[in-house]
Amino acid sequence: MAGKRRKGMAAIRSQDTKPEILLRKALWRKGARYRLHYRAASVRIDIAFPGSRVAVFVDGCFWHGCPEHYRKPPGDKPYWVAKLERNRSRDARNSQALQEEGWTVLRFWEHEVLSDVTLVRQVVLDALQGRAGPSGETSDSVLLSGSPAPSQLRGG
Ligand SMILES: [Zn+2]
Repeated sequence: MAGKRRKGMAAIRSQDTKPEILLRKALWRKGARYRLHYRAASVRIDIAFPGSRVAVFVDGCFWHGCPEHYRKPPGDKPYWVAKLERNRSRDARNSQALQEEGWTVLRFWEHEVLSDVTLVRQVVLDALQGRAGPSGETSDSVLLSGSPAPSQLRGG
């Protein structure tokens, strides 16, 4: 699918950011089967597990105002400040809307994913495990053990 180009700075927030892809790949390797850009409560979720109702977001440090990497843009642009405020209030609204519908919302900064994707992945896997039914039923086909079947390990 070709991305629609919007005018102005909105185009900078791309759909599939580098840390998002990194986390998706890490989750996939552990057998976590997510849905991409799934919609619930009118919110587009970056990485969704609809069966377990776990929603994962990776927020860009710059556009969402990460406290560690917050920098004023050169020239103190009012447009950027307004944009940041909009992003942050939308993030909060979206989280709340999802939680009201019973979702567990996990938000990570892109720097967290880039610096320790294994840790972030573990938080997601723990949340999925917490949401799995007592029967071990996982409608998202999550293989939480993460170990391959023994037959796959045996050589000729
Ligand atoms: Zn950051």
